[in-house]
Amino acid sequence: MKTILKTVLCIGLCSGCQAPQILTQNAPVEGVLIQNVTLVSAERDGVRAHMDVWVREGVIVEIGKNLPEAVRTIDGSGKFLTPGLIDGHTHLSEVPGMSEEHEAAFPEIAKAARAQIPRSYLYHGFTTLVDLNASAQVIGRWNTELLHPHAYFCGIAPVFDGYPTQFVPKSIRYKVVPNFLYDDARADEFPEGVDPAEHSPEAVVARIKADGAICVKTHYESGFGGRGNWPVPSVNLVQNLVATAHAQGLPVLLHANSQSAQAFGVAAGVDAFAHGMWTWDDKTWDDRQATVVNDEVKQILDGAIAKGIGMQPTVQVLYGEQDLQDPDYLARPELKSVLPQNLIDWYGTEDGKWWQAIIRRNNPVVKPAVDAGRWDELDAAPIARVLAVTEYLDTHGGRLLFGSDTPSEPTYANPAGLNGRLEMQSWIKAGVAPETLFRALTLGNAEFFGLEKMLGSLEVGKRADLLLMAKNPLTGVEAYDSIELVVVEGRVVARVDLAAR
Ligand SMILES: [Zn+2]
Repeated sequence: MKTILKTVLCIGLCSGCQAPQILTQNAPVEGVLIQNVTLVSAERDGVRAHMDVWVREGVIVEIGKNLPEAVRTIDGSGKFLTPGLIDGHTHLSEVPGMSEEHEAAFPEIAKAARAQIPRSYLYHGFTTLVDLNASAQVIGRWNTELLHPHAYFCGIAPVFDGYPTQFVPKSIRYKVVPNFLYDDARADEFPEGVDPAEHSPEAVVARIKADGAICVKTHYESGFGGRGNWPVPSVNLVQNLVATAHAQGLPVLLHANSQSAQAFGVAAGVDAFAHGMWTWDDKTWDDRQATVVNDEVKQILDGAIAKGIGMQPTVQVLYGEQDLQDPDYLARPELKSVLPQNLIDWYGTEDGKWWQAIIRRNNPVVKPAVDAGRWDELDAAPIARVLAVTEYLDTHGGRLLFGSDTPSEPTYANPAGLNGRLEMQSWIKAGVAPETLFRALTLGNAEFFGLEKMLGSLEVGKRADLLLMAKNPLTGVEAYDSIELVVVEGRVVARVDLAAR
């Protein structure tokens, strides 16, 4: 309105004089100008007040004071402008809590869910996502959505027949997960008729890179939930994988949430753990409740710190397991902003509770806890442990990476966007300072994934993925609830318009 008024005023004043020159001088420039705002960006210490940011064609083109008004000018007085947030651990191919069969049986609900998911990430400020297990096909589809956070992906390179491929029947396993690795250490178990040379780190990384991935994910998981004895890779194999991926400019993440898995990851020299260490080696029954970081755990964490290995705590994996069993979970008011009502209603049906039922049936600890109304005590020790590990890394110069693991399993209790917001809360609970969290959410993740030339800070030439907040995220995590506008590649959207209701 202000802009229009000024233009009209100018035309009025200038009629009859040498108008064209003056008109050009005062006519609004193309794009969007965010005026008189406080910049919060991790590449410099502190904040810069009373600045203008000019955005054009999806890019930040100028930052300064008293810049000329643009076609759209936004008054940022008293507010804070930050880069959009990056969630470095998501899974975007499925609707959380819905199987392919459910999608086919309830197409209207699935459609509403798929339309809302990208908006829910944006609602909570996430303008960039990394799917840790995807392909160009899946991510290509995602990036053609009308309004969406920009998604990137890792290709997975598990050892043959190892986690997560053992969940896929053998008859289709090698087709569904084609980039499995041959391991010399188990040469005699390698599937017949498959050429090991096609499954060397070189061949696998080349295919993953050619598909357009920005990272490689591999796995060390011997079992969970009462199941186990799954094959794990040899150190040699993963060392070779890391060297090969690095030669192609790709970081390697390791699925590792146990003490032995992370000890392996330190030895193999991976770049990051895709989970916090919540399973410790317990020697006695009583040890299982211990939540103070012991010397053996410390030694592994110190090894990770010395090698600069990052860690995504992903505490929401565990809280999500609790929430899945909470009988009142689906009535939580915050869900209404991120989930369509028909999806919430469906989750509440017997069909929608299929995963909850499987967990109750298969996990011997869950049912007694639920029956006793103590679902909120599930995973209490692992949660305390992962928070303790997060605190240890934070206070000893470790590299914490932000990733929510949304969704970590086919659960409705890791909803898009909100799950990341809750993960932030866990970092604060672990004692991490808001500044550290903010850096991890922005430039820290951009640097880890090699996206820092494009993203992660407020600098000229970077993609205009921005958040306008009423509060300063460096002083408290609640600031992320005060987002007013989300700018996605230069397009300005009011947060309220991104909500499911
Ligand atoms: Zn995951």
